[in-house]
Amino acid sequence: MRLLRIATRKKTTMEMNPQQLEMIGNQLATLKERSPFYDKKFEGIDLGDVKTQADFEKLPFSDKGDLREAYPLGLAAVPQEKIVRIHSSSGTTGTPVIIPYTAKDVQDWAIQFARCYEYAGVTPADRVQITPGYGLWTAGIGFQNGCEKLGAMAVPMGPGNTDKQLQMMMDLKSTVICATSSYALLLAEEIEKRGIADKICLKKGVIGSERWGEKMRERIRTELGIELYDIYGLTEIYGPGIGINCKYDTGMHYWDDYLYLEIIDPETGKNVPDGEWGEIVITTLVKEGAPLIRFRTHDLSRIIPGECPCGSPFPRIDVISGRSDDMMKIKGVNVFPKQIEEVLSLFPELSSEYQIRISHLDGRDSMRIYVESSGTNDFKDIQKKVAETIKSRIGFTPIVYVVELGFLPRSEKKSKRVIDERFS
Ligand SMILES: [Zn+2]
Repeated sequence: MRLLRIATRKKTTMEMNPQQLEMIGNQLATLKERSPFYDKKFEGIDLGDVKTQADFEKLPFSDKGDLREAYPLGLAAVPQEKIVRIHSSSGTTGTPVIIPYTAKDVQDWAIQFARCYEYAGVTPADRVQITPGYGLWTAGIGFQNGCEKLGAMAVPMGPGNTDKQLQMMMDLKSTVICATSSYALLLAEEIEKRGIADKICLKKGVIGSERWGEKMRERIRTELGIELYDIYGLTEIYGPGIGINCKYDTGMHYWDDYLYLEIIDPETGKNVPDGEWGEIVITTLVKEGAPLIRFRTHDLSRIIPGECPCGSPFPRIDVISGRSDDMMKIKGVNVFPKQIEEVLSLFPELSSEYQIRISHLDGRDSMRIYVESSGTNDFKDIQKKVAETIKSRIGFTPIVYVVELGFLPRSEKKSKRVIDERFS
């Protein structure tokens, strides 16, 4: 059970290694000349003064908002003729962010992605069915370039068309499926429904890093009978393929020869010790088209201290537990929905659906948790136990209401789990 409980004993943070410091120095030395975006962003800062990790940690963060302002091609740090491709993050929340890539960036991304496949045990003998979308989005093409770099056979399906997807999966005997967790689950359910499991040759799933619970993971794993690998990445930083778990499944290794990664307290912006949860901040070490310095991802994770049993020299982060935007502050305690979810998952009497409501009553914050029962009738006893467990693990006592199965609203998209009534 992964808990967001904070380890306070160890006070060392991930150290920037000498090669990383050198790469960052090289990058910063000419950054302002190459990029009007950074010339403006670091106005009044002499980047030549950045000589140590501590100096580096004083540089301002960049955020998706900054990148949006550079729309369309303001992030380019190379002359136009060196740009071979662009990708764009979704524009659902406003102006999209466009990331220009040089030929070397495309190549570097493929190398990192091929490494991911290797860590998942994929070999040139494998047939890799790629279901994420192609286009402006970095997903499909990232999976494909990595696959070709490794030397495996790509089956570039793209999303949807489940009939054809399953037909190809049977005819071509695909051994690896690349998908979002929701699509992997849908395929698993279809395979079961159609009774074609014996014609499916899948051995592994490489699953995009949207947040997904252990219950869903278990269903995909058992229904498809495959090993699952979580792949990490974001459009702003190459795309998917910058990290993945190995077969020991002790967190995701990330490629620290391409990226410098920090974990910060999302509220204070201060770096936190290894092992402590916070927000991932990424600096690209060799990216040419659109280098990023201290980019706030809003993804929550932690550095996993120590070595992985696989012996890999690459450091590890934990599976993404949520977004820093989801953080709630209750009675002075920082709480994430995942922490509540983890407590609820300890009780077999409860199902997976819940809703958190936060309000301000009589001058105090209060949290009410509505959670659906999985069939039990003894609501009172279980309500008390859940409240006590949250008190002991997170540090405050919520009001817990167990409700009947099907009581809470359902959504086809992302369910709204947290409703903060304090500011409405
Ligand atoms: Zn490992």
